[in-house]
Amino acid sequence: DLQITSVTKRFGETPVLNGVTLDIADSEFVSLVGPSGCGKSTLLRVIAGLETPDSGAVSIGGANVTTTRAADRNLSMVFQSYALYPHLTVAENIAVPLRMRQLTHLQRMPLIGGLLPGARGHRQSIAAAVNAATEMLEIKSLLDRKPGQLSGGQRQRVALARALVRDPAAFLLDEPLSNLDAKLRVQTRAEIAELHRRLNATFIYVTHDQVEAMTMSDRIAVMMGGEILQCATPEVIYEDPDDIRVAEFIGSPK
Ligand code: ATP
Ligand code: MG
Repeated sequence: DLQITSVTKRFGETPVLNGVTLDIADSEFVSLVGPSGCGKSTLLRVIAGLETPDSGAVSIGGANVTTTRAADRNLSMVFQSYALYPHLTVAENIAVPLRMRQLTHLQRMPLIGGLLPGARGHRQSIAAAVNAATEMLEIKSLLDRKPGQLSGGQRQRVALARALVRDPAAFLLDEPLSNLDAKLRVQTRAEIAELHRRLNATFIYVTHDQVEAMTMSDRIAVMMGGEILQCATPEVIYEDPDDIRVAEFIGSPK
C-alpha cells in the first residue's frame, strides 16, 4: 500500500498541506478532487518525491520513502502539460526513464558495472519495453515523430506510454485529460480505466471533472485548504458526505 501520514508542507509563509493522511491499497484507483489551489498537485509531487514534506511521512509497500529520490520510488507521474522533450522522437521520449534507470544503476555499481549485460542486451530490453508500451497505447505509427508533430491526444498517449515503461507500482496522474477536447477526453478516460484493469497498479488521479471521478474511482478523496476532508467510495461521497464542505463541493442532495 501507499501511506501518507500527517504530511505538512509550506511554501514560504503559505501553508499548503496541513496534515494530510491517506492510505491507498495496492491496485486501488483513487481520485483526488478539490477546488483550485487546495494542494492536489503539491500532494502528488510530495508522493512522487518532487517535493520534500516539512513533516510527516510517505511510505510505499511498508518502506519509508519520505526522503528517497523521485527516480528511486518506482512511481510514474503524468502531467497535464505532458512534459515531453521536444528535441527527442516519440520512441526516445518513451525510453527516457529506462535510460535514466540504467545510468543510475551503473553509477551506483562502478565495480560490477562491467559484469552487467552488455549495452546490446540493454538496448534490446529497452526496445522491447518501448514496443510493448506503444502497442498498448496504439501509437506505434508515431515512434519517429517529434512531439511538435503530434496532436494533444497523441502527446498525452506518449506521456502515458513513458509512464508505463517503468512498470511502476503506482501512477500519479495530474489532470492528464484537461487539455483534450470532450470526445478525446472520453476516449482517453476509457483507456486509462483499461490500463488500470490490465496493469493492476495503484492509480492516484487528480481531476476537476466530477463525472470522471465518480465513474473511474474505487474511492474519491475530497481535498480543501490543504486537508483531505473525506476519502470514500463515490456512493458514500455523493450520498453520505460526512462534512458540509464535501456536500457543497460535490453538489450532493444533502
Ligand atoms: P489546481 O486545481 O489549480 O491545479 P492544486 O490543488 O493543484 O490547484 P497546488 O498546485 O498544489 O494546488 O497549489 C497549492 C497552493 O500552493 C497554491 O496556493 C499555490 O499557489 C501554492 N504553490 C504551489 N507550488 C508552489 C511553489 N513552488 N511555490 C510557492 N507556492 C506554491
Ligand atoms: Mg494542480
